[in-house]
Amino acid sequence: MRFKSLSFQRRLQTSFNSKDKTYRYFSSNPAFALQQPRKASYNMKCCEDGNLTHYGNIQFSPFAAVLNYGQGIIEGLKVNRKEDGRLLLFRPDQHALRMKMGAQRMCMPSPSIHQFIHAVKQTALANIRWVPPPGKGSLYIRPLLIGSGPVLGQDKTPLSLYVEEEEVRAFSGGVGGVKSVSNYWPVLKALVRAKSLGFSDVLYLDSVNKKYLEEVSAANIITLKGNVISTPPTSGTILPGITRKSIIEIARGLGFQVEERSISVHELTEADEVFCTGTAVGVAAVGSVTYRGTRFEFKVGENTVCQALGSTLVGIQTGLIEDKKEWIFNIHQLFYHI
Ligand code: PLP
Repeated sequence: MRFKSLSFQRRLQTSFNSKDKTYRYFSSNPAFALQQPRKASYNMKCCEDGNLTHYGNIQFSPFAAVLNYGQGIIEGLKVNRKEDGRLLLFRPDQHALRMKMGAQRMCMPSPSIHQFIHAVKQTALANIRWVPPPGKGSLYIRPLLIGSGPVLGQDKTPLSLYVEEEEVRAFSGGVGGVKSVSNYWPVLKALVRAKSLGFSDVLYLDSVNKKYLEEVSAANIITLKGNVISTPPTSGTILPGITRKSIIEIARGLGFQVEERSISVHELTEADEVFCTGTAVGVAAVGSVTYRGTRFEFKVGENTVCQALGSTLVGIQTGLIEDKKEWIFNIHQLFYHI
């Protein structure tokens, strides 16, 4: 079932993985396991009842949240067999609770504690023949909470940004400079909060000083003061955007002075224009940035540098402006047959 408010789909999947090579097969009590020599998974879509299926690959839309934005949570717990044959789980309620808390942080609906424990029990029973004898190891169960619904989208401009001070997008030594799926869902909470306050996106600060501009959720940030264009350096915590790089070159070609340097949030008070760059948004004017309750406003619309740079970029991308930099790759349709 889809969660219409967020248009995501969630799937709880429990599968198992036993590293223990010494286990024996057991003739099992539950009818399901007797009939099913194959491994089994328990699948549950949110707001629907779960069911057991054969263990196997899972199919997703290429737009699935987990594939594009890393929206997924894993758990791991073991099933042990007692001398009398009974199966034992160790603190599954705590694993359920941890998944629930993680889901809240990742803005995902989650199974209830009861549903989680039920799913794990069903998985264990259905795979009972792979639970090793007492003292010979255990069966490892891997519950997955997966954002399986398709999500891809981008708001239109001009943007009103909210400066986030609690959550950071990236940190030194991390993977902020990589277009990794792991960089998106962790900051969704900040984005949801900003949107609930009426802002269109979040502007993140550096994790150490909480003072210097980093970037927006899925775009780079650029400021303009007079003839000087400034943008934070992409030295590990900021994604090196292709649009950012192109705009820097276009701006230099048009005679602007371009500086890649740390920009303090306080410098926004003096900026004439602020804009975001990214493949999805293009060159998007920022109408305002709100920091600690103060709203800074910037020039948008006709006769702005933002607009001039944006239309030059689009002109090159669409072949209306001559490509003097060899940025455009032609697709020779004769060579491709689908
Ligand atoms: N920063 C982040 C975090 C992004 O996800 C993106 C693009 O998706 C950008 C910046 C802009 O990069 P590009 O101009 O290559 O699209």
